[in-house]
Amino acid sequence: MGKPLTDTEIDRYRRQLMLQGFTLQHQQRLKASTALIAGIGGLGGTAAVYLAVAGIGKMVFAHSGNLTLSNMNRQILMRHEWIGRSRVVEAKRRIEEINPDVGVEVFDERTTGDNAGRLLDGVDIALSARPTFHERRALNAACVKKDIPMIEAAMNGMDGYLFNVIAGKTPCLNCLYPDDDPEWEELGFPVLGAVSGILGCLMSIEAIKLLTGYGRPLLSRMLLFNTFDMDFRKLRIYRDEGCAVCGASA
Ligand SMILES: [Zn+2]
Repeated sequence: MGKPLTDTEIDRYRRQLMLQGFTLQHQQRLKASTALIAGIGGLGGTAAVYLAVAGIGKMVFAHSGNLTLSNMNRQILMRHEWIGRSRVVEAKRRIEEINPDVGVEVFDERTTGDNAGRLLDGVDIALSARPTFHERRALNAACVKKDIPMIEAAMNGMDGYLFNVIAGKTPCLNCLYPDDDPEWEELGFPVLGAVSGILGCLMSIEAIKLLTGYGRPLLSRMLLFNTFDMDFRKLRIYRDEGCAVCGASA
């Protein structure tokens, strides 16, 4: 089901409506869609920009805390003068300036086992873009439980990965990474803004495909890349039938 488009929207999206096989119906489905973006930093903020300009109907941003100076090497939605202010409030304002037809709801919250189900209320797809594994795990479990597709993407230095979690069809995050990395520090890993940006763009493309039915999303495949050598590859990934989150006995 889609939502009818105004003349302004048809004009705004004219160039993507020229994509081979991308019809008004795909555009209408995108307008009828809501995405949760868990983490509105270098990854999620970039994904939000491209979902907004592509004409998604609504986004929900979940990210706790205020903008800091050291966020500014990657968070292209933000402005220097906003340092010290709420990240999600400023992100909402900026997105609505870019495309006033997009609705944004914000939660100045981390993603936890307690709130993930609530953050997903009325949501059609979730983008996993938080810098901690426990938040990603909470979102993964809630998405599997509510049968909501999740796009999982993460980066570290010059490297990144991307895959989609479709409950019951593809591996979930827990199938692939059942254990936390005890060495991982939330803000302790290197980030080049363009690497998080490219990954945010790729997330938005997968979201548009999954929401509209256009193209071929990654299914049981992981995109893995290393921009130090500009090496991009796709790997086959497998479900763990005994997975504590998505397995038969879960
Ligand atoms: Zn699983």
